[in-house]
Amino acid sequence: MLNLNDPSLLRQACYIDGQWVGADNQETVPVCDPANGATLASVPRAGAAETARAIVAAERAFPAWRARTAAERSRILRRWYELMLEHQDDLARIMTAEQGKPLAEARGEIAYAASYLEWFAEEAKRAYGDVIPSPSADRRIMVTKEPVGVCAAITPWNFPSAMITRKAGPALAAGCTLILKPAEQTPLSALALADLAERAGVPPGVFSVITGRASAIGGELTASPVVRKLTFTGSTEIGRLLMQQCAPTIKKLSLELGGNAPFIVFDDADLDAAVAGAMASKYRNAGQTCVCSNRFLVQDGVYDAFAAKLATAVATLKVGRGTDEGVTQGPLIDEPAITKVESLVADACARGARVVCGGKRHALGGTWFEPTVLADVTPTMAVAKEEIFGPVAPLFRFHTEAEALSMANDTEFGLAAYFYTRDVGRVWRVSGQLEYGMVGINTGLISTEVAPFGGVKSSGLGREGSRHGLDEYMELKYLAMGGL
Ligand code: ADP
Repeated sequence: MLNLNDPSLLRQACYIDGQWVGADNQETVPVCDPANGATLASVPRAGAAETARAIVAAERAFPAWRARTAAERSRILRRWYELMLEHQDDLARIMTAEQGKPLAEARGEIAYAASYLEWFAEEAKRAYGDVIPSPSADRRIMVTKEPVGVCAAITPWNFPSAMITRKAGPALAAGCTLILKPAEQTPLSALALADLAERAGVPPGVFSVITGRASAIGGELTASPVVRKLTFTGSTEIGRLLMQQCAPTIKKLSLELGGNAPFIVFDDADLDAAVAGAMASKYRNAGQTCVCSNRFLVQDGVYDAFAAKLATAVATLKVGRGTDEGVTQGPLIDEPAITKVESLVADACARGARVVCGGKRHALGGTWFEPTVLADVTPTMAVAKEEIFGPVAPLFRFHTEAEALSMANDTEFGLAAYFYTRDVGRVWRVSGQLEYGMVGINTGLISTEVAPFGGVKSSGLGREGSRHGLDEYMELKYLAMGGL
């Protein structure tokens, strides 16, 4: 089982109003290791009643939390950040056990997740307002920023820590209180974070974590008029549903939804750099990130060379258990995930795509899939439209810049896009016309706490991280002072 330096980080209870509690009916759900299906732990199967209590606690805790100075909230967030780094190894072990990603990637995610707490500890002190020159001499106009209030967060399994801290960091910095429902596959990472939050001095009710029945917890959070904001990362399908559920109470929304990232390689690109970027953007987390390249659009003149170089690089990936030394690709999260990847590859091959390497389940069995490159892929195939969420790189061919742009934008999604070129004019032309919230130019890695993360079109609403991230948890209040 899990061998931790600090075993108390392995929490198997909900954290509500500063208490570690089970479900009212004492039911639990197992948490499984995707590498072998073994049960690692079990967590409460909570629902609406427990959620309602967390909402009451968050509402009760809000006035005192918002009344603290920004510097006080900042110190608590910084302490939480420091505790995450002190326990980086244990947190990474918990993550790899329940999520499957290689341990080195899990350690990296813990540092990345912690960086959001550090960043927003700093930004907490910079929620500046405005003084606006008045149109009349007897008036003064000011704008202040105030916390939104009680917030709810629903997070996915692919980044079990970072998707939490980039919501909790700005929410708590702004003076909001937050109730979190983590993904059912990865509750242990969330509960370990709650344990560290408690140690850091986050007061009861300011940050609660509820595990259990997604639709019951989500239903209660979205229906409550007390909850003023929902922040969600996950599929477009569930995001759409939650948005509907939030409509009657007109909640503020931040939605980080699906993507269909194009990765464009122009004839003039530095091919080795493009391959390195492709590896980072495609095969990280076994392809299970919303900013993973989903479609490689490669110009005719370098198509064959890029395919060959990419296949050579892919051959260096080491597939195995995330805890094993040197492993760079773990298992997929579960059986439905691998079935989807398999069917997308089958559909592409049936319509004329060619397997350059990989293409099937890995000999290790379970939910391991071979790192795969497909050539001669066309826009009519399902991989062109659907998020693969697996280690498969489909290569499409294009001839002109206009054709590449048209293909890149031909999707309902608009999260991340990447392109490689050494032509500075093209850099500005293409980046200006890509209908995406984030564009990587000659890089395959774009995520950092200092930059605004988010998408357009069906990829969502709002931005996380950067100085803009704090605004998502604040309301503007306009003060007009007359009769001077
Ligand atoms: P993924 O495909 O990444 O699992 P989902 O959108 O299904 O994406 O899941 C993201 C998060 O949304 C998870 O925490 C999941 O439990 C939650 N979720 C799924 N269905 C619902 C629902 N009906 N109400 C509230 N939360 C939900």
